[in-house]
Amino acid sequence: MKNALIESRRYPVYCAWCAKEGNTTLVNMSSVRNSSGICKKHADELKNQADELAVQLGLFQKSNTLCLKEAK
Ligand SMILES: [Zn+2]
Repeated sequence: MKNALIESRRYPVYCAWCAKEGNTTLVNMSSVRNSSGICKKHADELKNQADELAVQLGLFQKSNTLCLKEAK
């Protein structure tokens, strides 16, 4: 009986990035209320951005490290 009640509590998980754009894209169902997810489209976009960032950070790693040390 208790298990059946818990399993019936499923909340929709919407893509947080789509929500920013005013869209509601259902990406999952969760037992946790108000949890955020990410749709495939935005996951791909983030991955591409991360890849670009990694390249940029790799190129400027030395100067960035120096700047951070000086800032502290
Ligand atoms: Zn999205």
